[in-house]
Amino acid sequence: MKNKNISPIMKVLTKHFDFKERTTLNRMRENPNAFKILISCLLSLRSRDENTEKVSKKLFAVADTPEEISKIPTKKLEKLIFSSGHYKKKSQTLKHVSEDLIKRFNSKVPSTKEELLSIKGIGQKTANIVLAFAFGELVLPIDIHCHRIPNRLGWIKTKTPEETEKALEKILPKKHWREFNGIFVLFGKTICQPISPWCSKCPIEKYCPKINVGKRR
Ligand code: SF4
Repeated sequence: MKNKNISPIMKVLTKHFDFKERTTLNRMRENPNAFKILISCLLSLRSRDENTEKVSKKLFAVADTPEEISKIPTKKLEKLIFSSGHYKKKSQTLKHVSEDLIKRFNSKVPSTKEELLSIKGIGQKTANIVLAFAFGELVLPIDIHCHRIPNRLGWIKTKTPEETEKALEKILPKKHWREFNGIFVLFGKTICQPISPWCSKCPIEKYCPKINVGKRR
């Protein structure tokens, strides 16, 4: 942890990125409903946060239980979630996940990573989001931003989000785990963007060695 400036960086970023501005999924943990969090997470994949919020609201107004979603005709479901992108694939996943929850888990979202990962369509990130935001577990959901930024900061040197999760578990003090995803997703969307990050506006610029950062603003 030496020389990585993790504590000062987390202090600055926590202050900079207010909880109220966090992603829809982050905010859902205030009043957790595991099924809604799981479905919103599946809808959020490869989609913008504004869309996730809009589409989730639209869908939950019609159906917000595994039984209700499994009964929606496929065409109607596709139409409801159309603007989240990849709507055909997502509607299949939503149907399958709902049916599996009914069949194997008594219509309840399971609370262990092993069980969550046993459902087709639920990957590592989604499982960790559900565990963290629905069940309050101390885990690190890692998306592209949570993977890219700690590498740029020189905290870790990893090739995949899975490697990043394991590496961060070793160096990030647990007191930061709950807020890490929310802060880094927002940071990655607004400042430390994948291409040409805004280093000139970055609140932690002085701590950052900018590993493998090419063009920047
Ligand atoms: S200085 Fe640039 S590369 Fe480093 S964290 Fe900030 S925006 Fe990202």
